[in-house]
Amino acid sequence: MSLIDRDRAYVWHPFTQAQVAPDPIPIASAEGVWLYTTDGKKYLDANSSWWTIVHGHGNKHIADAIHQQFLTADHLIFAGATHSKAVEVAERMVNVLPKGFQKVFFSDNGSTSVEVGIKMIYQYWHNKGIKKKRFLAMEGAYHGDTFGAMSVGQRGYFNKPFEHLFFDVDYIPFPTEENIDDVIQKMEEFFKTGDFAGFIVEPLVQGAAGMRIYKPEWLEKMMQLAQKYEVKSIADEVMTGFYRTGTFFAINQIETLPDFICLSKGVTGGVMPIGLTVTTSEIFDAFLGEDTSTALLHGHSFTANPLSCSAVCASLDLFEKPETESGIQRIVAGHKNFLDTHGDNPKFKSAKQMGTILSLEIEIGEESGYFSSIRTEAYQYFLENEILLRPLGNVIFFNPPYCINQEELDMVYSHIMRFLRQCKSTP
Ligand SMILES: *Cc1c(COP(=O)(O)O)cnc(C)c1O
Repeated sequence: MSLIDRDRAYVWHPFTQAQVAPDPIPIASAEGVWLYTTDGKKYLDANSSWWTIVHGHGNKHIADAIHQQFLTADHLIFAGATHSKAVEVAERMVNVLPKGFQKVFFSDNGSTSVEVGIKMIYQYWHNKGIKKKRFLAMEGAYHGDTFGAMSVGQRGYFNKPFEHLFFDVDYIPFPTEENIDDVIQKMEEFFKTGDFAGFIVEPLVQGAAGMRIYKPEWLEKMMQLAQKYEVKSIADEVMTGFYRTGTFFAINQIETLPDFICLSKGVTGGVMPIGLTVTTSEIFDAFLGEDTSTALLHGHSFTANPLSCSAVCASLDLFEKPETESGIQRIVAGHKNFLDTHGDNPKFKSAKQMGTILSLEIEIGEESGYFSSIRTEAYQYFLENEILLRPLGNVIFFNPPYCINQEELDMVYSHIMRFLRQCKSTP
C-alpha cells in the first residue's frame, strides 16, 4: 500500500472534509525551505509549514541541541522538580521581551498558551475577590481550538457546533482608517461598564482571518484603554512572535504593554511543540497565599519538556547570529520591493506588508471569504509550480523561513504575478 492509501485507512486530518479532500501531499523529507515528496517532487515551503518553521527545516544547530538534550535528560516531571533548560528558556525569554515580563508558564501549543492566559485572568480577579466576567476580543480573531480559545475567537462556521458552550465575549470591529475612532469609542464604552476581566488581541496582524494588518498606533490606543480601565490584556503573539512582524515581537512596536504575551509556533524554531504564557510579577503575586486554593491548578504532562526547551534555546542562539538578521532583512526588503513594483495592480483589493509577512488580497468581485474558488485555483497553480502556498480564502500570503535566498524569493514573487495574469476567478 502507498503512503496515501495507508493514510486514508487510518488517519483523521485537521480542518479537512475527508470525503471530498484531494490526496494529501506525501512528504518524504525536508531541508531548508524545501519539502521533498515520496514521488520525487519538491515544493518550496512558502508558508513555513503552518507559520512555524523560522530558521528552515533540518537546522543543524537545533538538531544537535535536541540530540544532546535527549542524551542528558529526555522528559521530566515539572511539578516539584525543575531542570536547567526550562530555567534557561525562562531567563532568556524574559531578557528578550520588553521590561516588565517576569514569569513564564509552560504548556504545549498555541491554544494552550492562550487557554492558560485566559484562566490566569479569571483566577486573578477571583483571587482578588472582584467580580468581572466578560472578555473583549476582536472580530475575525483566531486564538486556537480549545474551548476557552474558541470562545474568544470569531464565532461562526468553524465553531458552530460548540457555540452554546462558550462564555460571554464582546467584539470590537477590526480597525481600519475609516472606523478606528469608532472602534476605540466602542471599546471604551464596553470597559466603562466595569464588567470586563480581560481583553485579547492578535497584535498588528490577524493571522487566520487572512493576514489582516493594522497599525501599531491603533494597538497602542487599545492597550492604553485596557490599562486605564484595569482590564487585563493578552497579546496573542503565537503567530507574530520571532520577527514575523519585522521586530522580535509585535509588541516591540508599541509603548503600552499587555499583561500577558502568548507564544508558540516559532518559539522552538518551529520544530518542537511548546507554548509559553509570559506575564508580570503583579499577576503572579495575586496567586500567592498560604494554601493551594489561590494557586494556578493547571498543568500538562509535557509541560516544559526538556527537548522542546533545548530547541527554544538553540533557536534563540540563532537569532543572535548575523545570518538570521540578514535573512530577515532580505525578506523584508524583497516584500517591500514587490509592493513598490506591483502593489497598485488593480487585481489586488489590498496589498500589504508587515515585516516578513506579505499579504495580498485578490479582487474577486462579489464572491469572498474562506471558501472562495480562487483559493483552490491558487493552491493548485502554486503546487504545479513547486510552491506550497495555502491561501486563506482570497488572500495569498507569503511568510517564508528566514533561510530563504534571493533566487527562491524571486521565484515566488514572479509566480504570484504569473498566477494573477492567468487567473480565472478575478473579474
Ligand atoms: C496558530 C495560532 C493559535 C493556535 O496555536 P496552535 O498551536 O495551533 O494550538 C493561536 N493564536 C494564533 C494567533 C495563532 O496563529
